[in-house]
Amino acid sequence: MHHILTLTLAEPSDLPLMELEGPVRREGSERPTESELEARLAQLPPDKAQAIRARARPAPLRPDPEVGPPPPPPKFASWADFLDGTTAADRRRWCADKATTANGPRLMSGQPEHRIAPDDVLRVLEAAEGRCYYCGSLAVEKKPPGPWNRVGRRIGTLHHAEVRFLGGSNTPDNLVWACMWCSTWPLEEERRPGAVDRGGYFP
Ligand SMILES: [Zn+2]
Repeated sequence: MHHILTLTLAEPSDLPLMELEGPVRREGSERPTESELEARLAQLPPDKAQAIRARARPAPLRPDPEVGPPPPPPKFASWADFLDGTTAADRRRWCADKATTANGPRLMSGQPEHRIAPDDVLRVLEAAEGRCYYCGSLAVEKKPPGPWNRVGRRIGTLHHAEVRFLGGSNTPDNLVWACMWCSTWPLEEERRPGAVDRGGYFP
């Protein structure tokens, strides 16, 4: 049985693997399975491997059930409303941040060969009109501080269709716009077209 591992890290400043691998993202799309992690660690010096292993722990294979009060209303009523409510410079800056993240090194896949330009990301966002590739929810909000899973389907993110640690490239043909929920949980039952849980919104 495969466990999905999540790499739980303290502040980046105290990462012993920073020099070796750079910062590590926590998002589920790049989570290695236990066997993938071990295969990668086998290539590292034992002390480095142990330091990384000590920071990895099994994560739930399924998200927790949705509980609590209803999520807040969407910040944008539609794609057109998003375009009205933001400037071209806002959107490009948002996409530039996503490009920076995508161009950074990852624990399991190192530094990507291909660097994504901010305009590549912007084209992905615009082609999708802000909708999640998987569930179709309008996903143009930023990740809020604190818990986000009540509105996970409204948070927009750049997603590698084939994830990087499995060999997916960093080229535009492997990029899709997705909501944070579908990007985090690569499960058929979570990536349901039209899903209205987790803040799913379909104007
Ligand atoms: Zn989605």
